[in-house]
Amino acid sequence: MNAYDSDRMADLLVPIGYEVSQAPDGADMIILNTCHIREKAAEKVYSELGRLAPLKADVIAGHKAPLIAVAGCVAQAEGQQILERAPYVDLVFGPQTYHRLPEMVESVLRTGKRIVDTDFPADDKFDFLPEERSSGDVSRFLTIQEGCDRFCTFCVVPYTRGAEQSRSAQSIAADAKAMVSDGAREITLLGQNVNAWHGDAPSGGEWRLGRLIRHLAEIAGLDRIRYTTSHPSDMDDELISAHGDVPQLMPFLHLPVQSGSDKILAAMNRRHNAKDYRRTIDKLRHHCPEIALSSDFIVGFPGEEDSDFAKTLGLVTEIGFAQSYSFKYSARAGTPAADQGRQVDEDVKNERLAGLQQLLRAQQDSFLQTQLGMTVDVLFEGAGKRRGQVVGRSPFMHPVHVEAPDRLVGSVRSVRIQKCFANSLRGEVQTISAPVSTEHLGPSAEGICA
Ligand code: SF4
Repeated sequence: MNAYDSDRMADLLVPIGYEVSQAPDGADMIILNTCHIREKAAEKVYSELGRLAPLKADVIAGHKAPLIAVAGCVAQAEGQQILERAPYVDLVFGPQTYHRLPEMVESVLRTGKRIVDTDFPADDKFDFLPEERSSGDVSRFLTIQEGCDRFCTFCVVPYTRGAEQSRSAQSIAADAKAMVSDGAREITLLGQNVNAWHGDAPSGGEWRLGRLIRHLAEIAGLDRIRYTTSHPSDMDDELISAHGDVPQLMPFLHLPVQSGSDKILAAMNRRHNAKDYRRTIDKLRHHCPEIALSSDFIVGFPGEEDSDFAKTLGLVTEIGFAQSYSFKYSARAGTPAADQGRQVDEDVKNERLAGLQQLLRAQQDSFLQTQLGMTVDVLFEGAGKRRGQVVGRSPFMHPVHVEAPDRLVGSVRSVRIQKCFANSLRGEVQTISAPVSTEHLGPSAEGICA
């Protein structure tokens, strides 16, 4: 989501004379677009700002001091405090106000007054964002929903990203068509709680995500659709059945469960239990037997006992995940769980995390092994690490490297998998037929400056 937002910030700045730079040295503006999810996020931002401070002081000959901005969820959470702790920062703005970036930059340059803008404005920022610049990327992100109303007790998102807001089906479809015209073959629909998306249907009534996906699948040239991240309680029947009958919807789903214990799920305010989760997975597998699953797990949540953790291991063993993310619980200031009693001892958390990760790693390895000897469709996205190699993704998100010409980039080809590595695959293209145009391919953007 932050990668998408960074690109949109660049879209806003290019018309006022900035261009993207790959490094901070010599830049006219440096934006740290921050995430608040990981532990000690704010401290990491302050330490990064400390590294940038000399750029503000030691102005390189012939260059003005760069503007320094902090954006994203740490900016939203810390606000004014950033200006107090890092007096060389010029701009602080949250995820919901970055559409005002050109005005903010103009104001700071004109008045020299520093700005903090962490509102949750009533207007929809997407109405104010310019058209996306051409990137030529084969695989693109498209934000369709932001914010979250679920208030899981460990999570900062509802406080930093605000209430759930869905974009209209019409504007999403228009953006998706523009991306496909620009060379995209795969679009990943993004949202903090993406499957809570709902919007006015073009011909009246309301659509939910399953219907939107069916609509987007009609765009000629769009070969692959994905969405992330989903909440189990928002997996409705229409979305589940789309996995069975929309060929463009890839058979890979990240569906965080967090714990296998109903007691802990209730303490987390997840509003689903382990049985609900199992039922949803059964339905998904009924409609799409080959679907590969990924999940998030938190171990050592306040009050978690050995018996609760055993239920998590039991659920993992029963379901089987192709990929997963697992973390020790760590408190986030301002969230209800941070003040809950019965915090779990750090050694216990470490031990449980090691046990869970061992099981998840074994499942991931054995899923990778099932790919050996299979022929899978790969969408090629760019040059591989080695000369003469191209890399793409399998339907299950694995990076797949093959020795093949660059002209395959932007096409889907059948690849026979010959080798498995820890997180990727190597194979041989089964069909190299008509040449594929790569005219649309351009560099990808990573930083912002003039
Ligand atoms: S559903 Fe996801 S984003 Fe929303 S509060 Fe829970 S963990 Fe955070």
